[in-house]
Amino acid sequence: MTGREFGRFFLPGPTEVHPDVLASMLQPMIPHRGPQMVDLLEGADAPLRQLFCTERPVLVGTCAGTGFMEMAVRSGVRQRALCLVGGAFGERFAGIVEATGRDAIRLNVPLGKTVEPDMLEDALKRSEVDAVTAVHSETSTGSLASVAELATVVQQFDDVLLLVDGVTSVGGSPVRTDEWGLDFVFTGSQKALALPPGLALGVASDRMVERAKRTPERGAYLDVVAYHEAASKYQPTNTPGISTLYALREQLKRIAATGGIEARWARHEAMRQTVENWVAGRGGDLGFSYLPSEGRRSWTISCLQVPEGRNGREIAKDLAGVGWTIGSGYGGLKEQTIRIGHMGDHTVTQVTELLQVMESILQ
Ligand SMILES: *Cc1c(COP(=O)(O)O)cnc(C)c1O
Repeated sequence: MTGREFGRFFLPGPTEVHPDVLASMLQPMIPHRGPQMVDLLEGADAPLRQLFCTERPVLVGTCAGTGFMEMAVRSGVRQRALCLVGGAFGERFAGIVEATGRDAIRLNVPLGKTVEPDMLEDALKRSEVDAVTAVHSETSTGSLASVAELATVVQQFDDVLLLVDGVTSVGGSPVRTDEWGLDFVFTGSQKALALPPGLALGVASDRMVERAKRTPERGAYLDVVAYHEAASKYQPTNTPGISTLYALREQLKRIAATGGIEARWARHEAMRQTVENWVAGRGGDLGFSYLPSEGRRSWTISCLQVPEGRNGREIAKDLAGVGWTIGSGYGGLKEQTIRIGHMGDHTVTQVTELLQVMESILQ
């Protein structure tokens, strides 16, 4: 065990996990085909639907988030997808489309920007695709796409599915699966849900499940049809990582006890605003500025351009030296930016303290 103080680990995933959640994993194994497992999954059902704002069953897999990204593609893309790419995770989605033998047409925007509804409409008019892949909160750039508006555009086109990576949005900012009409949306446990890594959660529309049934080469282990059938009986598909399910049960209890999903969104919005206020004041004076523009900033990750003559990686290293962890920039943005992952169980107080520490090391 490390003696690290809770609430100082602002990596943009994995994020800080509450000690009660960690402790919950130290329970004995149970049979994965018995009544205790059914109880566990049935107990998670209603709170998970609230998390995704859906009436549909939430699929629970014990794999990395990328597993459900692959599920989205194998079950949801027939031949060709339009892939919205504004950073590393958008590119990963496109890469999986190609790796599974489908065609990806990329709609690229510069790092920090998001695809806007008019751009999407133009692209869909120009290209014959059967699905669109999108990342809601692009963790590599800290930008937040307007998924609700993008969904409205996609719905104007016949038989085109919208597949959404909600890994750093679900649980941290509004994701209204049913209201927005998302065909598939998924998350991973180690981001805004503040769980240990190893769980993927997702929701599939009827259209998605029906299309998957007519796609024989959709694979086996990450088959959305099998997941959907299992979920409707509160069963796992295969032997799940049982310990991570204990953690999920504990964290869902904690979320309910702290005001539910709306309170969670509000806390994340307040953390984003705390960083925005800092950049408008002291942080801006020091030379920090946002990569994404106003209104398109993630509620869970703030990606800031560092002052002239400074280096994002070194700022992260200096902070680590005094016991605080943030992310440096991602890929090509490594030196130019820093990323503060204020998600999961972090609070405004902790973010404020982090920013003060950052000021002091930059003096
Ligand atoms: C972290 C992340 C992923 C990948 O999650 P893994 O669990 O590492 O597979 C995908 N998309 C986004 C937006 C992420 O932040």
